[in-house]
This record gives sequence, structure tokens and C-alpha cells, in this order.
Amino acid sequence: MKKTLQLTFFTLFTSLLFSCSTVPGTGRTQFTPIPSGTMMSMSSGEYSKVIKQAKLSDDKEKVAMVRRVGKRIAAAVDQLLQEEEIEMKFDWEFNLIVDDKQANAWCMPGGKIAVYTGILKYTKDETGLAVVMGHEVAHAVAKHGNERMAQGLGVSLLSIALAVSLNEQDPTTRNLFLGAFGAGAQYGVLLPFGRHQETEADKLGVQLMARAGYDPYAAIPFWQRMAKASGGKKPPEFLSTHPSNETRIKNLETFIPEAAIYYFP
Ligand SMILES: [Zn+2]
Repeated sequence: MKKTLQLTFFTLFTSLLFSCSTVPGTGRTQFTPIPSGTMMSMSSGEYSKVIKQAKLSDDKEKVAMVRRVGKRIAAAVDQLLQEEEIEMKFDWEFNLIVDDKQANAWCMPGGKIAVYTGILKYTKDETGLAVVMGHEVAHAVAKHGNERMAQGLGVSLLSIALAVSLNEQDPTTRNLFLGAFGAGAQYGVLLPFGRHQETEADKLGVQLMARAGYDPYAAIPFWQRMAKASGGKKPPEFLSTHPSNETRIKNLETFIPEAAIYYFP
């Protein structure tokens, strides 16, 4: 019994020790107490459940476009991680889900991506789609979901112990996970990303799309279209009221020229 307790504390201590990481592309130090192995296994489990229940698009051209953009962004992530000598595991999957009412997209840890057909009327073309996918992949690369989940659990020793032994079948954990990745909208669970996370995803997102060979300046008209269309009513992933549309565009105006140095059409 005493040994088990010692082991628990040892696990706790080491998980705390190794739970700081650096965000690629922005250099921010972050606290991500949930082990990446746990996040990865939850991700693949939850992703396959969502995909199994969803109606996948059979529009060959659009599906091919989603995969093409996804692969190019994935290669951009590889390039960035190599440059910064950061190790992160990916097992990319890209799917287009038929739901014209959902102007949404998300990316779970490990690069499990869903794009909903409802967002295609705002993205308009492949470059517009790269804005959205770059932004979503940026959330995953910056481990924003891990940060959200940790906040949802409440960062205490006890909760970290809980997180270490997360039971993937536990509905509370599942909801927290789905909510933290913007994938819980259909189930009524949503933990919108915070303002700083959104800004960071915008900054890293335009860099990724530029590295992938897409013109990062397309981000401004895309967000302008989203702002105009939403008229106060925002689609799920973009539910967060921060940053305001004006702030977002103003920020992008400083991020894009920095990103454009990576853009080779
Ligand atoms: Zn976002």
C-alpha cells in the first residue's frame, strides 16, 4: 500500500516536472499537465467515433481539396518542428463532413481534422480553406486543447493525478475533451478557446499556410467574410467573442508580413 502511494507521488512529481513545453513558432512557455500519450489515445478514439457517426462527403473534388490542403499544412508543421527541434507526434487524418449548417472545423491532437461543408461557403477556394485549416492545426500544434482541459479540470495535484489516469470511457472526461477541441458543439459541450489562444492560432496559422505555399494575405478577406456573415451569431469554433473582429484583423495585419517571408507560390 505504501509503495503504491509512493509510486503515485512519483508519477505526479515527474508529470509536473515534464509538463512545461514551448509553443512552436511563437516560443511561449506553456503548462500542459496532461501527458501527450493520453491526449493522443483519447484523440484517436474520439475521432473515429465522430467519423463513424458522421455523414462523410462524397464530393470527390472537395474531399481531394481538403486532403491536399491538409497534407501541405502537415508538411509545413514538419518543417517548423524540425527547424525548432521540437518533437511532436502526428498521425494525420483529414475528413470532410456533410453538414451545411455547421460553419466549423477542428483539429484534435495528433492531427485528426474535421472540416464541415458549412464552412466552404466562407472559405470560397483552396486558399480560403488553408486559412481555416492552418488556424485549426495551429490550435493543435500549440496544444491549446491540453491547456483548456487542464483549466477545465482545475489545476491541482489531485486533478493532475486524475488526468494521468484519465479514464477514456468516463463521460465527464469525454465531454471535456470534445469541448476543449471544439468538437462538442453537437453534444452541447463547448469550451471556447481563450482570447490569447485565438490570437496565437491566428499568428501561427498564417505562418503555417504561408509555409504550405498559400498566400497568407487571404486570411484578412476570409475573416471579413466570417464577420459579415455571423452578424453577432458565430459558428461553434468561433464562438469566443475574443478577439473582436476588428482586433483580429488588426492583429493579422502585423502577423501576415512576418508570415509572408515563408510564402513561395
Ligand atoms: Zn480558433
